[in-house]
Amino acid sequence: MALIVQKYGGTSVANIERVRNVSNHIKEGREKGNDIVVVISAIAGETDRLINLARSLSSHPTEREMDLLLSSGERISSALVAIRLNEIGCKAIALTGRQSGILTDNIHLKARIMHIDKDRVMRYLKDGYVVVVAGFQGINEKGEVTTLGRGGSDTSAVALAASLNADKCEIYTDVDGIFTADPKIVKYARKIDRISYDEVMEMSSLGAKVMQIRSVELGKKYGVPIEVLSSFTYRPGTLIDDGGKMEEVVVSGVVSDKNQARLTITRVPDRPGIAAQIFERIASKNIVVDMIVQNVSEEGFTDISFTVPKDDADDASKIADEVSREIGGGEVTLNKNVSKVSIVGVGMRSHWGVAARMFRILAEEGINIKMISTSEIKISCIIDEKLTESAVRALHRGFNLDKEELWVR
Ligand code: ADP
Ligand code: ASP
Ligand code: MG
Repeated sequence: MALIVQKYGGTSVANIERVRNVSNHIKEGREKGNDIVVVISAIAGETDRLINLARSLSSHPTEREMDLLLSSGERISSALVAIRLNEIGCKAIALTGRQSGILTDNIHLKARIMHIDKDRVMRYLKDGYVVVVAGFQGINEKGEVTTLGRGGSDTSAVALAASLNADKCEIYTDVDGIFTADPKIVKYARKIDRISYDEVMEMSSLGAKVMQIRSVELGKKYGVPIEVLSSFTYRPGTLIDDGGKMEEVVVSGVVSDKNQARLTITRVPDRPGIAAQIFERIASKNIVVDMIVQNVSEEGFTDISFTVPKDDADDASKIADEVSREIGGGEVTLNKNVSKVSIVGVGMRSHWGVAARMFRILAEEGINIKMISTSEIKISCIIDEKLTESAVRALHRGFNLDKEELWVR
């Protein structure tokens, strides 16, 4: 008998038919003798709907109330699943984040799970219940409701799996697993059978929204085997673990992210401490800065460009304006029409020529590269947003991911 944590995303519970369908699947798992904890996301589109309602009332809705509002989406769907399970003779209980003992830090809308008080969940499991947990939420030390950032139900699931020492964490979604590129953009994308935590973390951080990055970090830290699979086909999916012998594959995936904006601060005085001043101020607003490029100094001045998520761009721009004025810098420009395309693969560690090949492929598509950043296992380029899909398809083709065999030197 195994203990399995199953997470169902928004599309998996998008309507009553889907709730019935996944409830049947949960029941089957239970009838095989497994202990099952289920984590449910809000019904597809519900979180966006709630965000829009709040924004129609306020340009800066208070974050505490946003968390209260958004957490309700997952309460609805988890209660519906538990109601259905009980109806079909599978004993179940729905719990909110608080009731499941999920304790987080104090950062509203982007909270991190600090600890899980698992007694209550364990007790229900022992009494033979399927425990249905509302994903994406917890409470902080003050007892306030918090949410875990977009896609946070993945993290609820993996964190519960780690804390309960589950045998496996299954992430059910609307595609058959993790693909070499978003299957909604590249129709020749191939499903990957097995992939390392590191690669999925890299893909997630580069914008593939298939898994929330924090969930994969936790999976890696606690060694939780994660399978991503479809609740529409229930076919074998993608196993994420320490990754076996994938080093031979140079590029395992292509990722794009349209949620990018580029800011440039011009004529920044070139002296120690200026970069620290700029980025400390931005960090103090919990804005994540991604790529940073500083030009060569001319006459004691330089330009600094960096990217932030689009949602944070206006706030970041305001801060950059203030700091620029304080330090005697020049104008700040903001471009929201950019995106990031990236290639990812642990095999890049030991292969040369990968970056050159990426730039050549983009050049042949007539795509201009605005910024570049590299790490051991990824290369990213900022490009014009309208060219995103053609860049992704060209890179997928160019690195032979379209075909059966991968690009191996
Ligand atoms: P859920 O609602 O189940 O959490 P998400 O929408 O968050 O689902 O994530 C699944 C989606 O991620 C897929 O529908 C797919 O369009 C997208 N996606 C992006 N990149 C990839 C990839 N490399 N492999 C699989 N899916 C991807
Ligand atoms: N409902 C939340 C979101 O849409 C969390 C999740 O689905 O994982 O981001
Ligand atoms: Mg998701």
